[in-house]
Amino acid sequence: MFICENCGAEYECQSDLDYIEDMTDRIAPGEFVPGGQCTECGAICHDQETILKNLKNHFGIKQIDWNQFNHDKSELEWVIKENENKDLNVEIPYSESTLESLRNIVETLEELQNQAVTYGYPEEEVFGNQEE
Ligand SMILES: [Zn+2]
Repeated sequence: MFICENCGAEYECQSDLDYIEDMTDRIAPGEFVPGGQCTECGAICHDQETILKNLKNHFGIKQIDWNQFNHDKSELEWVIKENENKDLNVEIPYSESTLESLRNIVETLEELQNQAVTYGYPEEEVFGNQEE
């Protein structure tokens, strides 16, 4: 199954996709070679297996535990909110740079979540470190 990374269109076979003419301009070094381009919007389409491999390599994860995932995310969001709200007396306020990196983590988590949902990452899988 090939999925468009822009519009989410699904294609059963690589032959259903358009040929990518400017391949070298479209992918960065180290990226997986796409299966072709979307006939609807022209964006790059990867096969689902490749996407999962990409996600796992990028985030160093084997599996996703959605409960833990959502818990971690809301914990972080709470900490950020507490620190942003100056009316509350936070005992040890985080520095602006710490807050900034926390915001980046939340953003990365959201990005991962969206990608995982878009590409049908199995929801029952468990977040774990790669132990090879
Ligand atoms: Zn598309």
